[in-house]
Amino acid sequence: MNEFDLIIIGAGPGGYETAAGAAASGLSVALIERGELGGTCLNRGCIPTKTLCKSAEVALTLREAALYGVNPGEISFDYAVAAARKDEVVSTLREGVKSAVAGCTLINGDAAMIDGHTVEVAGERYTAPRIIIATGSRPADLPVPGAEYAVSSDNLLSLTELPDKIVVVGGGVIGMEFASILNAFGVDVTVVEYMKEILPQFDKDIAKRLRSSLTRRGVNIITSAAVKEILPDHTVIYETKGKELRLESDMVVMAVGRRPVVPAGIENTAIKVGRRGIEVDESFMTDEPGVYAIGDVNGVMMLAHAASAQGRKVLGEEINLDVIPSAVFTSPECAMVGLTEEQCKEHYPEYKAVKVPFRGNGKALAMGEPDGLLKLIVDTASRKILGCHICGPHAADLIAEPALAMSRNLTVDAIKSTIHSHPTLTEVLSVAASRIP
Ligand code: NAD
Repeated sequence: MNEFDLIIIGAGPGGYETAAGAAASGLSVALIERGELGGTCLNRGCIPTKTLCKSAEVALTLREAALYGVNPGEISFDYAVAAARKDEVVSTLREGVKSAVAGCTLINGDAAMIDGHTVEVAGERYTAPRIIIATGSRPADLPVPGAEYAVSSDNLLSLTELPDKIVVVGGGVIGMEFASILNAFGVDVTVVEYMKEILPQFDKDIAKRLRSSLTRRGVNIITSAAVKEILPDHTVIYETKGKELRLESDMVVMAVGRRPVVPAGIENTAIKVGRRGIEVDESFMTDEPGVYAIGDVNGVMMLAHAASAQGRKVLGEEINLDVIPSAVFTSPECAMVGLTEEQCKEHYPEYKAVKVPFRGNGKALAMGEPDGLLKLIVDTASRKILGCHICGPHAADLIAEPALAMSRNLTVDAIKSTIHSHPTLTEVLSVAASRIP
């Protein structure tokens, strides 16, 4: 029998960061993974897409190079090289993960739960008083005829050649990131979104801003449209305002959400699995004492940094999980923290929202990226920040400052009285704070 202090199933950001933290605190840790270290984020998600985002950014900049006085001559784009660079970045980071978990016992294989303290991998049993399930999620399928003719985000990331014309089903985070990247690479992209607006979780003004930026760049975005069928020749049939329409394409990408991946043998335990995933309490413990579920598998918040933060909480760290920023790596980027204005209207009748466009910011203009908007929402009674929403250059980095303020319960005056260096994009937030009376 192999006994450990802690068993972790799944080596994505939730699993491997928690395993490294637990081992560093002196626990004996078994980390079980059936695939590559790094999970979806490193192998099929955040990192490969962000590497492609860089290629997209270079392509967009070069196309406009003459505006900056640079004449690069004839520009051509080689997707195979961009894809190879992505693979190289992924394997470099995988080595980093390997050294981060050097203090753990790595077990390669498929884990099945035997009971609340025992896990089996390839006929071998392992026990621990605490088990953390961090098995992540997989792309969801759309239950429509012909769904098998579409590819998932996983498949799309393993291409070495791009199609000419693509339809993206779903205008959520994944759909919009791919639409932005593929358009920059010269692919003819159409997004079909079921809701009235893209990025349904985002503040409406921000989503609208991104939609008009991408539309200007040539992305065809169709909203309030439900995909009904996909034909073998990749024609997409969708319904909008009672009419049935079709879109021809060379490839269809399905980006309609993700579903939790639950390990085998869960029925041997008291763990409950709901519609969103494994059910957990506020400390991420399941109904089986000593067994926890963190990350995408519990469906609480499908973000890499949320998964690792939940793991830190399981290890006993005091951490504020109420404030979790998120970002969409389109061009321009979008980011948010806290409540949207639509949510504030419902819960805080006394709120004040200030919108500041990036076009008045010296750095944004100098960068040639004046297309953007920051919205800051404050509770007028307590002066606490309720939310901050950005569409603009480096939005994903800029969101860290309001996230810190919110996480530490600071008022808007903390931002107002902090000196922001000039000329920087951070001044957009200080201007917004100064406009709160
Ligand atoms: P999502 O839930 O963000 O978006 C799916 C979209 O598909 C929704 O807008 C939905 O309205 C639409 N849709 C559903 N059925 C449809 C139909 N029949 N026709 C047209 N549209 C339809 O899901 P996702 O974009 O697949 O992302 C999955 C998860 O991964 C999310 O939780 C996301 O936050 C996370 N993720 C985050 C990042 C990031 O933080 N940058 C990147 C990738 C993924």
